[in-house]
Amino acid sequence: MMQEQLYHLYYSGISGYDLIPNWKTDNSHLFCTHCHRLKLPRGGLDLITDEKIRKNLDMTMIGYLLIPGCMSTRLLDLLGKEAENHLNLGNVYLKKGTKLIKQPFVTFISKYKYIPLRGETPYYIDGKPIEKRLKVCPECLFCARVERSPWFLLNDEYPKHPIQCTDMGLLLYESVYEKLKNTKLVGVCVEKVKIKQNTQKG
Ligand SMILES: [Zn+2]
Repeated sequence: MMQEQLYHLYYSGISGYDLIPNWKTDNSHLFCTHCHRLKLPRGGLDLITDEKIRKNLDMTMIGYLLIPGCMSTRLLDLLGKEAENHLNLGNVYLKKGTKLIKQPFVTFISKYKYIPLRGETPYYIDGKPIEKRLKVCPECLFCARVERSPWFLLNDEYPKHPIQCTDMGLLLYESVYEKLKNTKLVGVCVEKVKIKQNTQKG
């Protein structure tokens, strides 16, 4: 089977936006008590910020959450109608006084398992590479890899759907990426993800 090139899109800025103070306490039951990630699977999730998100950003981070991700409605439109088939979307509001004002951003949560990208470079502790690179949360079973880019996947890990998620952002088939490649996205890093034959599993 011919496989399309994969592209990883994720937020590359350094600052994020804060949730309103009550949000986390009101929604603490949604999060894993062990790794503090959002419990999955779940449908769309609305977030409320205490400050207006800069209009020209195409991705950002809210409340230091990696999941859900946050993208502009502009980027969502570029992904096309199909995006809703693969992502659970939520609204992003700004709280102003007692009012909630909708912002031109959406939150997104994958409808499928999150893909732990493999990195060529290990993390080091005290000068030694970390040996156990796959970390599975014993409570919610979320899988993450402690590795750094450049990113790759093995052949049998190739995503089955054209739009999937990693814990950092979106993983797109080239046919989806084509639709937005000529648009200058703000605050978004784009990296190719290599596919390797399954010879060095581990
Ligand atoms: Zn967990």
